[in-house]
Amino acid sequence: MPTESKALSRTTFLASCPICGAREASEVVTFPELRFGRCAGCGLIYKQEQQPGLGDGYEEKYFRFTPAGYLARWDHRVRKCQRQILACLEFAPHARSLLDVGCSAGYVLAAAKSLGLSEMGMDFSDFAVQLCRERGFRAERGSLDKMPFADESFDIVTAKHTLEHIPSPIDGLREIHRVLRPGGVAFLIVPDAAYYKHTLMPRRGSSFRPDRRGWQHHVYFYEKNLADASARAGLTPVKAGKSIFRSRLARGPRAALEYARYAFLVGWTHGSRVTHTRREIQLISVKPGTPQALPASQAHAESAAR
Ligand SMILES: [Zn+2]
Repeated sequence: MPTESKALSRTTFLASCPICGAREASEVVTFPELRFGRCAGCGLIYKQEQQPGLGDGYEEKYFRFTPAGYLARWDHRVRKCQRQILACLEFAPHARSLLDVGCSAGYVLAAAKSLGLSEMGMDFSDFAVQLCRERGFRAERGSLDKMPFADESFDIVTAKHTLEHIPSPIDGLREIHRVLRPGGVAFLIVPDAAYYKHTLMPRRGSSFRPDRRGWQHHVYFYEKNLADASARAGLTPVKAGKSIFRSRLARGPRAALEYARYAFLVGWTHGSRVTHTRREIQLISVKPGTPQALPASQAHAESAAR
């Protein structure tokens, strides 16, 4: 049970908004172990206070599930990742290489490889890195705010549900900007701060609770926060919304199916946005500059040399 002494043990986690720097914030939710506030400047929800030690043992707590759980719906997940990468390729048709930050079991890496891209994964967890390597993918251990890669190493960087795990999302975005080649594409997915449970029942959903995602997540973005943070890191937002919205749809026998699917998803996505039942935000941004395409063989050799 929460006690006053536990409440007193919270210490400052983020003293100001990690995006706009404003110090004023209103309360979103307070537990004995942590407190989230809403920035008065930009609306970002961020962790103001946390009990020291709450995030310790990250890997053990986060990667508790078994390899069998990882394999669940593998094909479905890889297909979804393929669609997301195809959406990135619309903005970077020259792309030869992809880095997935927070590569987990390697769904994005499998999708990248199947689309002919040179794949690289990075994860905070040794367990995840090992799992990806066992599956034949290249992966390195590292943290988003300090990545073990040289400047301008990749054409596409994907970071799905990773940015909210570091206290300084701008630093993470600057790192993504650094490792991207000019003309490269960043693909981001984060939980949507506008999700109704965040406003209506912050104590009940899993997003803030210290025994659920409260200890893992440090920030919750609204759509404008994510675009703003990307721009501050030097990335130009080019497309928000589901990556499924491709400008070039299928032709031939599959066209009818794809148009029907497209229409359904447009309705679904718009509906979930206005009713605040959307759970995540997607954003595609571009690193300004002229792409200098490398032949596939050279891109492979370059990454292999690192
Ligand atoms: Zn702010």
